[in-house]
Amino acid sequence: MKTVNYYRNYGFSDLKELLNNAYSKNYIVPSFNFITMEQLNAIGDAIMEKRSPAILMVAPKHYEQFEIQMIVRMAQAMIERLRVAGCSCPVGLHLDHGNTFEECRKAVDYGFSSVMIDGSGLSLEENIALTRSVVEYAHQFDVAVEGEVGALSGAEDSDEGTKEETLLYTDPGEAEKFIRETSVDCLAVSVGTMHGLNKTTQHNGKTFQGLRYDILDTIKSRVPEFPLVLHGCSSLPEKYVKMINKYYGKVESMVGVPDECLEKLADSAVCKINIASDGWIPSTAITRKVLAEHPELIDSRLYRKEIREELKKIYMHKMDIFASAGKG
Ligand SMILES: [Zn+2]
Repeated sequence: MKTVNYYRNYGFSDLKELLNNAYSKNYIVPSFNFITMEQLNAIGDAIMEKRSPAILMVAPKHYEQFEIQMIVRMAQAMIERLRVAGCSCPVGLHLDHGNTFEECRKAVDYGFSSVMIDGSGLSLEENIALTRSVVEYAHQFDVAVEGEVGALSGAEDSDEGTKEETLLYTDPGEAEKFIRETSVDCLAVSVGTMHGLNKTTQHNGKTFQGLRYDILDTIKSRVPEFPLVLHGCSSLPEKYVKMINKYYGKVESMVGVPDECLEKLADSAVCKINIASDGWIPSTAITRKVLAEHPELIDSRLYRKEIREELKKIYMHKMDIFASAGKG
């Protein structure tokens, strides 16, 4: 008989509770992708210092970095570390961009506290059918489900994004239909952000075009009290691009989402914002810098320590911007 690991046994918090709290108290839960131990440690450091709720995320495409068993146990150990230090902040473990029912089922069975099923590349009807099947399975185990309507086209498969991608804004009518017909717990919408390293379709002009707050407001009026999610919200600070290029890298200038745009969302229906690229770029920049400055180095501890310290600062800054600091 199949056994299912009930996520609360690992210390993970229910996504619905995390997001309902954020909705009623006007903040956003930071949701951090991690693929290295430095990222996971830095997220834990930031949670402890800022007393912020948070969500840990891994996408199936990142199982090459950590196998699913490792992810669950490492996240559990990180939470244990918080509790031993007297920090009771709630932390969830979320599957980011599950593409199939099977990927989501596996994450539920291994103990993730929530899963995303990304059917945004399908027709609306197919997306509804796929998402409903995941909801029916996951809800048996009290696991919450995130869906997506509207696509950050072309960029989902690549952390680098592409230059030709077109942004498809979420249609509020489709979002309402999707929410009602799937019983999904939260919804990722497309309102002007993109995955990867360029947050604008006009990145050659180097300006961010802004978020479509009107779409968020319309969905909120049609489906009150329903939590929304934004992906692709990294700020991509110029200093890390400069650092990479100074130390023999070759990366084009990037356009991220400015802090001011995200600060405005704290009292909107947006309750979860995903941060991926802002964890990758500084790690690469610092590795290049430390290796270039210490050509004799053979021990990776030196740059790994600096990465952890830098990421902690970045993650703490997100908690301030999202108004989640002190809410744990
Ligand atoms: Zn995403």
